[in-house]
Amino acid sequence: MTSTCAVWHIYSVTNAPDPLVELKAWFIAQLDDLWPVALGSLSLRRSPCIRKNCQACATGEKHASYVLYVRREGKRYGLYIPDELVPQVRAAVANGRKLEALVADAGVRAVGVLKGARSTRRSRS
Ligand SMILES: [Zn+2]
Repeated sequence: MTSTCAVWHIYSVTNAPDPLVELKAWFIAQLDDLWPVALGSLSLRRSPCIRKNCQACATGEKHASYVLYVRREGKRYGLYIPDELVPQVRAAVANGRKLEALVADAGVRAVGVLKGARSTRRSRS
């Protein structure tokens, strides 16, 4: 005699889409629009150069350059960003924020699915 649980399992594998698998597919589809991605803050930094008798440094104006401040394994450091790459890096940072929000959203949905599966199992037993 086959148990109802085994019958339900076969049914769910062959016919009903697994909501957790569907959720994963949705998540992966969202990732496609979020590349390139970066976490950190992009800021304009003014720093002196190493040249002697530099007019910009002498006047205190110094040299402006973009830096991406990144936190990695507890350490914070700055990556020099060439001017022409600023729009792309800015977009990557924006994508990073969207990705964080997406992970939070996916987590809430995943918990909902897991809870739903739990109550379905309960109501069937
Ligand atoms: Zn200088």
